Amino acid sequence: MSSFEQTVVLLARTAGFRVVCQACADLEPDGEVAALTAEGSLRLEDDLGWTTCPRGHRIRVIRAGSPVRAEATSPLW
Ligand SMILES: [Zn+2]
Repeated sequence: MSSFEQTVVLLARTAGFRVVCQACADLEPDGEVAALTAEGSLRLEDDLGWTTCPRGHRIRVIRAGSPVRAEATSPLW
């Protein structure tokens, strides 16, 4: 599999999130959104995490306000 990597930026007090996987959206532009959506959660005390979409693409999760410099690549941002 490719090393395609996506990054989602969460707001400071957001624990759960949903995001459309861009890799899946590229593979299947006409697919149902539900089938392209990754869900995950990040504990409030954590600044970094990751989740995977239904197809297994890795999506990195960064909490806004953390020292990690994040590019806002989420379409929901
Ligand atoms: Zn995907």
